[in-house]
Amino acid sequence: MTTSSRLRNKTILVTAAAQGIGRATALACAREGAQVIATDINAALLDKLAHASTGIRTAVLDVRSAEAIAALAAELPALDGLFNCAGYVHHGSVLDCDEAAWDFSFDLNVKSMYRMVRAFLPGMLDKAKRREGGGTSIVNMASMASSVKGFPNRFAYGASKAAVIGMTKALAADHVQQGLRCNALCPGTVDTPSLRERIAAAPDPAQAERDFIARQPMGRLAVAEDIAPQVVYLLSDESRFVTGQVVLVDGGVTI
Ligand code: NAD
Repeated sequence: MTTSSRLRNKTILVTAAAQGIGRATALACAREGAQVIATDINAALLDKLAHASTGIRTAVLDVRSAEAIAALAAELPALDGLFNCAGYVHHGSVLDCDEAAWDFSFDLNVKSMYRMVRAFLPGMLDKAKRREGGGTSIVNMASMASSVKGFPNRFAYGASKAAVIGMTKALAADHVQQGLRCNALCPGTVDTPSLRERIAAAPDPAQAERDFIARQPMGRLAVAEDIAPQVVYLLSDESRFVTGQVVLVDGGVTI
């Protein structure tokens, strides 16, 4: 494993780190010298991740639980970086989305980030006050399916990811003078375990996969390792003049 030091001396927490983009990002941050706290609800997969790299400490964390988040925040040192990655794709139009589905999407995709930021921001602001250079950084996982672009059957998902973008900009505006940056990340379609589940659940999985690929002008799905470098950049001091931005890594979908 090659290592460098773009995130040296930084403590970075990643949610939904057991698989997909969160996992690839936790590994990439560790390679860049960060002390990574990789969290997820899946303890078994977290255990595998802990064995895959040095520099990664794992903690089971349900981002839907304010109590669990507060307990973890009380136990950890102040963070330099927070990657709010956890999220869920509801498939369907407004007519497929009852109130329970809407509430679940907003709780996991949006309110979880509010909870994480409420718990970890005071420590991050305090740390930013004492630091020179880039300060502290939050990256919130949004999507190109959001206020950026509408997609069929992404009603609750698109609405919730648009809310993530609004929250990101509000946080960036409130704390821009306190050494805290906050950006929203919008990947294209990424080949992750949950995408494979969405493909398998389609009436014609082979056609569903072709359709996902067809909407990517580069002619392929992204892999998680296409996305992780952008998060490393946004968490590093290299992006110290970048805040409140909607950062697209979408293989040309929104050209
Ligand atoms: P994934 O959906 O395959 O894995 C999600 C992870 O989240 C799992 O490890 C799961 O255990 C964890 N998780 C679920 N509920 C949780 C909870 N309550 N608390 C903590 N962890 C929980 O991973 P992915 O496809 O890389 O998606 C990660 C994020 O990226 C999501 O926010 C998703 O909306 C976003 N995203 C994904 C794509 C894509 O095409 N895969 C595109 C754009 C944005």
